[in-house]
Amino acid sequence: MTAQGAPVRRQGPPVGEGTLKDLSHPGRRASSFALLEVPDAPVPEELRRARLPSLPEVSEIDLIRHFTRLSQMNYGVDTGFYPLGSCTMKHNPKAAEEVAALPGFRRLHPLQPDSAVQGALELMWRLERALCEITGMARATLQPPAGACGEMTGLLIMRAFHADRGRARPKVIIPDSAHGTNPASVRLAGFEAVPVPSDPRGLVDVSALAGLVDEDVAGLMLTNPNTLGLFEMEIEEIARIVHAAGGLGYYDGANLNAILGRCRPGDMGFDIVHINTHKTFATPHGGGGPGAGPVGVVDALVPYLPTPTVERADDGSLFLERDRPRSIGRLHGFHGNFGVIVRAYAYVLLHGADGLREVSELAALNANYLAELVKEDFPLAYPDGRPMHEFVATARRLKEETGVRAMDVAKRLIDLGFHPPTVYFPLVVEEAVMVEPTETETRETLDAFAMALRQAAAEARTQPDLLHEAPVTTPVRRLDEARAARHMRLHW
Ligand SMILES: *Cc1c(COP(=O)(O)O)cnc(C)c1O
Repeated sequence: MTAQGAPVRRQGPPVGEGTLKDLSHPGRRASSFALLEVPDAPVPEELRRARLPSLPEVSEIDLIRHFTRLSQMNYGVDTGFYPLGSCTMKHNPKAAEEVAALPGFRRLHPLQPDSAVQGALELMWRLERALCEITGMARATLQPPAGACGEMTGLLIMRAFHADRGRARPKVIIPDSAHGTNPASVRLAGFEAVPVPSDPRGLVDVSALAGLVDEDVAGLMLTNPNTLGLFEMEIEEIARIVHAAGGLGYYDGANLNAILGRCRPGDMGFDIVHINTHKTFATPHGGGGPGAGPVGVVDALVPYLPTPTVERADDGSLFLERDRPRSIGRLHGFHGNFGVIVRAYAYVLLHGADGLREVSELAALNANYLAELVKEDFPLAYPDGRPMHEFVATARRLKEETGVRAMDVAKRLIDLGFHPPTVYFPLVVEEAVMVEPTETETRETLDAFAMALRQAAAEARTQPDLLHEAPVTTPVRRLDEARAARHMRLHW
């Protein structure tokens, strides 16, 4: 049907897998152990539960089939195109997986002495140097396990910097198109988030920004390219305005895949930058993690970096520096997600400087190609700007003409074999459809996805009810998007 093929039809029951409880029969077991050859040692009274937990009783083959069927219902970047805007779901080179699985990395213990882990420290040192070169920063920490944690790290550094200068500045300025994690991190780090509006081009309103900065502003937190996929044309002026008031510039570099090898946050005048290795350097996202959100800083902020740092001794050997009195402390156990760091370094080496440059070139080319193919039905929300690695279109006209919303289109795409793009984000765009194809897709895949989007728009005009009901071919039909978040039933 498409280059991706139709959704994979699994073997076994056609609908509704149910839970393990449904498969349970009293007395069935997934394993049988040999009789004990030693005397029974009863569990001490004080450790015994008053009431036994009610666990499903299933045979091994039923257990295996249940979980295998569930796994086949899943959708991942290894099974199909995943154009989820802002999330950068790109192919993870398998060579990097192989490197991370080398016993010398995999079997390390974090409590081994520095002298026994020189190779791992060397890798951390070299990746830090590479990230500093790529971002234009002086030093970096690899500790934060996600982009959001990188934000938190950078903001705590910002706070420590101002506190050291004897003035606690309470506010951080954030554009109204910011990624949702930005205002959340600002609050968590103890600041007040002050929004700066976007102008008609979808960029930071520079004169509004100038009116907002004062002695109370600790800094500005900016995503570039912003969440509309647009490059902030006046970025140097933006950094200058913030510095003039004594504030710091925080660069949300989660989208670094758009500018890799072309320009650097440090050269734009920014002081702190975080990178999402799981977006830029194609390490797996996992189920919300593990990832890595390294943070780079300029010279003046190095003393505040999380502890420990990797340092080189005079004899050339590497060691972990823990005695760092002005550090903000730890953000993660040991050194963050080390396996992810290994993959990121492998990715940098696999590509080299020219290859990384090509990554951003192809990311922007693919996004612009796709935007052109679908613009008749899904025009760009800000048509005057040239999107970079992702684009934000709007289904507003489609909704006015047919009553079919961006959400309906997204759900119909599942029937057509694709993971939906991000919808209703960024919030400043009505009926937003945010597409990030990434650089790793072929032209055939992009064409097939564009055809599916256009098919959904055509169906909206002829059979809108189909779209309101979609998806109609999946094991689970349309879910209530909000209920799980509003009516939580927690079990542990
Ligand atoms: C993805 C993203 C983040 C958050 O990164 P996580 O690793 O998901 O915590 C922050 N900012 C921007 C712009 C992003 O795209």
